[in-house]
Amino acid sequence: MTDPGAAAAMTADIDDYVARHEQDLVELTQALVRFDTTSVDLSPGSEHRTNEEAACQAFAADELRASGFAIDQWEPDARELAHHPMMPPWHHFEGRPITVGTLAGAGGGRSLIINGHIDVVSAGDQSLWSVPPFAAEIRGGRIVGRGSLDMKGGIAAAMFAVRALRACDVRLAGDLIFEVVTDEETCAMGTIAAIERGYRADAGLVPEPSEMNLWVATRGILHGSCKVEGRSAHAEINQPSWQEGGGVNAIEMTADVIRALRELSADWAGRADQRHPLLGAPAIHPTLVAGGAFIANIPESCELGINTTYLPGNADADGFGSGPKAEIEAAVARLAEQDEWLALHPPRWTWATDYPPYELDPASPIVSVARGVAHDLGRESIVEGLESAYDGALLTRFAGTPSPAWGPGETARAHTTDESIGIDELTEAARLYARAIIEWCGRAA
Ligand SMILES: [Zn+2]
Repeated sequence: MTDPGAAAAMTADIDDYVARHEQDLVELTQALVRFDTTSVDLSPGSEHRTNEEAACQAFAADELRASGFAIDQWEPDARELAHHPMMPPWHHFEGRPITVGTLAGAGGGRSLIINGHIDVVSAGDQSLWSVPPFAAEIRGGRIVGRGSLDMKGGIAAAMFAVRALRACDVRLAGDLIFEVVTDEETCAMGTIAAIERGYRADAGLVPEPSEMNLWVATRGILHGSCKVEGRSAHAEINQPSWQEGGGVNAIEMTADVIRALRELSADWAGRADQRHPLLGAPAIHPTLVAGGAFIANIPESCELGINTTYLPGNADADGFGSGPKAEIEAAVARLAEQDEWLALHPPRWTWATDYPPYELDPASPIVSVARGVAHDLGRESIVEGLESAYDGALLTRFAGTPSPAWGPGETARAHTTDESIGIDELTEAARLYARAIIEWCGRAA
């Protein structure tokens, strides 16, 4: 676009379309929220194994098709993903398709991936909601519902931006690829599946609720569990030492493990090389404990679940957390060396999720484009880190597609009871996305 007058007329057209069709954007968001896509848990023993994500994906495909996208919808083959370090052995995608739409550009522009997840976290105790969590009712200019903010609102705004481009006859030079994934709130294999399918672009945008700020860094996340062995005995009868056959309390031993991990976490927090300007320090939190079988028995085993965050600088060459994992195991091994029982019965670690951290140059072109169009609309999109994780890390690390989050709505409302998004936030996001897509992909002559 070289003619500034024509460019201004085009953005005026887009803004006018968004203003006149605001109700369509509201209805699109409501339609997405009304599918109960509460993330399934396919681990053994779980009872939440199905949801409405297949129907939601069919809806998303129809929407994208109507905007001119060629649709690739498929159920990823679990066997083909088995090699991936983030893939749990029991996980699968049967009845759980991924949708990717491609809007082929005319050529000569940069390609862009927009990636959003339709799975949502549990609504929790539904009686605490002021409206049913999947009704998508409107209260005070806001659409209330689980997933309205995280992140069906962002997805709807981006889809609607493409509708606006089409209505205003904007033809793009670069390809626009719209990924609608599941699984983000649990195993994050949906975006991995799209990456393994071969989708790449010059940059990506993830419409997570970032208040239209740009998340350019995340911490990595490790989930692990440590099994501590004791020896069962009658809790009400005085016990001889364990060497003489007495009981060993696995819960008390686990308390020692927790103390050792707390010291390691404090050590990380105190080290200058473990501080990131946008992410703070890494941390270890004990988050689950299961031990003991009977109130009158000395417990013979205890299992401790931990959640650990780590910094981009802690990642190994493959992007993962083998370093922090080894430090954690070493800290518990040192404890075990000082205790005769633990030395003979060392705590055993099992590691599950390792979600890699990432970091993007705040001066990277996609960040500049997003900040530029936001500035033009009177909004300053600041560059931030997200202490947790989201799919932008995977696109950046594994697809070579630098992808900040940039989406409508307040981060603090995500995962809360009465989660909601403002209709004004949606329309602003749609206007911003339309501008950013044109700016990034270029307009065909
Ligand atoms: Zn999210």
